[in-house]
Amino acid sequence: MSSLILIVEDNARNLKLVRDLLEHLGYRTLAAATGEEAIDLARAHRPHLVLMDVQLPGMDGVAALTHLRADPETASLRVVAVTAFAMKYDRDRFLAWGFDGYIEKPISVRDFPGQIAALLADREGAHG
Ligand code: MN
Repeated sequence: MSSLILIVEDNARNLKLVRDLLEHLGYRTLAAATGEEAIDLARAHRPHLVLMDVQLPGMDGVAALTHLRADPETASLRVVAVTAFAMKYDRDRFLAWGFDGYIEKPISVRDFPGQIAALLADREGAHG
């Protein structure tokens, strides 16, 4: 079965773009518009990858990551920050916070398939 990807994004247009791209590539998707919803869906479905918008209303993506990491059920999920902060030191900061990777907004339609494949690559087989 194809990999399941949880998209956390409060902007409906961005969500539709990412969801359409991923589904076109054959991935299964789940979507959350808030950190709280993301935590519930992550716990219920154990996605192979979480694309976490950092700027969310209420609980932000960093706080949501902290909750995921604190719960043994979701601690080892692969979670990638998706944010418009473009400078190199931001990337290092996101990794220091515990994200497994970083994707810059706006999403590059050309680069996105390779980014997702790379993020999923070393997980293949882990879920059968
Ligand atoms: Mn946002």
